[in-house]
Amino acid sequence: DVPVPGKVSTRFDLEKETELRFEVESGEAAEQVELELLTGMAEVFGSELNRNKKYTFGPGSKIAVFTWQGCSVNLYGKPEVAYVSKDTPMLLYLNTHAALEQMRKQAERDNERGPRVMVVGPTDVGKSTVCRLLLSYAVRVGRRPTLVELDVGQSGVSVPGTVSALCIERPADVEEGFSVQAPLVYHFGSTTPGTNIKLYNKLTSCLAEVFSQRCEGNRKASVGGCIINTCGWVKGSGYQALVHCASAFEVDVVLVLDHERLYNELKRDLPHFVRVVLLPKSGGVVERSKECRRDTRDEKIREYFYGFRGVTFYPFSYEVRFSDVRIYKIGAPSIPDSCLPLGMSQDDTQLKLVPVTPGRDLTYHVLSVSSAEDGEEGARKGIVESPVCGFIVVTNVDTQTQVMKVLSPAPRPLPRHTLLIMDIRFMDMK
Ligand code: ADP
Repeated sequence: DVPVPGKVSTRFDLEKETELRFEVESGEAAEQVELELLTGMAEVFGSELNRNKKYTFGPGSKIAVFTWQGCSVNLYGKPEVAYVSKDTPMLLYLNTHAALEQMRKQAERDNERGPRVMVVGPTDVGKSTVCRLLLSYAVRVGRRPTLVELDVGQSGVSVPGTVSALCIERPADVEEGFSVQAPLVYHFGSTTPGTNIKLYNKLTSCLAEVFSQRCEGNRKASVGGCIINTCGWVKGSGYQALVHCASAFEVDVVLVLDHERLYNELKRDLPHFVRVVLLPKSGGVVERSKECRRDTRDEKIREYFYGFRGVTFYPFSYEVRFSDVRIYKIGAPSIPDSCLPLGMSQDDTQLKLVPVTPGRDLTYHVLSVSSAEDGEEGARKGIVESPVCGFIVVTNVDTQTQVMKVLSPAPRPLPRHTLLIMDIRFMDMK
């Protein structure tokens, strides 16, 4: 094999059913690490590696190369850590996939719908990774499952502050994850469901409804079922949101990662026909700090505008007149029940559209462009339940001339004029 010039290479020989775990240093200056499969077969989170192809992993990556049969691989560069572990829950995860596949076969036979699976657990237990694994295994046997992303803090599909659904048609790319084409995305507006739990539950219901409609008209989607990734908030309203999700999607299976109490609570509170399964987390899952999470969110927004790896996007910057757009925030600040107007409940205020007057404090905020038809007051009703068609960032506000400057993935004009403000800010350092 030809060494990568200037990089140290380290060879690892893996026995069957073991995995090589490595982490790439984080930070701008960190050196990438390349991975190459030399002999045998191996996979990264459910996607098979091609032999003698070099896969590149950037700063902050945390990767596991698992082999069912045994293999040898080379790492080029200096990973922060790299070690082989024999102790992995992969066999349990594979068995879970096998059980789901049985359910799909049965669904096919009996003209029923395939399994709807919710993956739950606290933060950093590998929920997203398990979702990716199960989805990739399912497409590898010819299924067309749907990924439902409810993690508003760390979305694998769109920018943070959104919930979404994506039909999976091929296994995740080893380096880049699932190809994100035409996802269905809704605006939530912040990185934790707690800021507006009513809205969060409402959007979960919206996604469930759209998914069910799709299943009615599309047999493959129906048999493929869905894998729902959730937030790591599993107490109080966060727990209630999980129960709500289970009911909205009529889930058949709940996979609880590494949390016995949550497992017992869900067994107690969900209908008896829902299979609740407790699975261990992988020892390889690395805890991420608050900063690390924030960086990942920032990176996700940067990718949206500037592209990722081989693909470079060139975003546009242009001016938008205040008079040409309507900006709303979803949810009015809560007020004591006794102060609410007659006949109005706290729920109504959380789903209410509050007009935002553009001012300097709008700067750096991410805004969702709603797909709702432009129109006057009457059209306002559907905005919360309308998917978004894209995002812009406000880079400057001039109250004198009543104009704001925005960063946009597409040239002017804006496709729609209803904008929803997020709590999330993005400072463009490029
Ligand atoms: P969660 O969704 O529960 O927050 P993730 O699935 O995002 O957790 O996993 C957290 C991090 O751990 C990710 O960077 C992922 O790549 C990494 N990871 C997951 N499983 C392994 C493993 N077996 N070995 C090494 N790293 C892993």
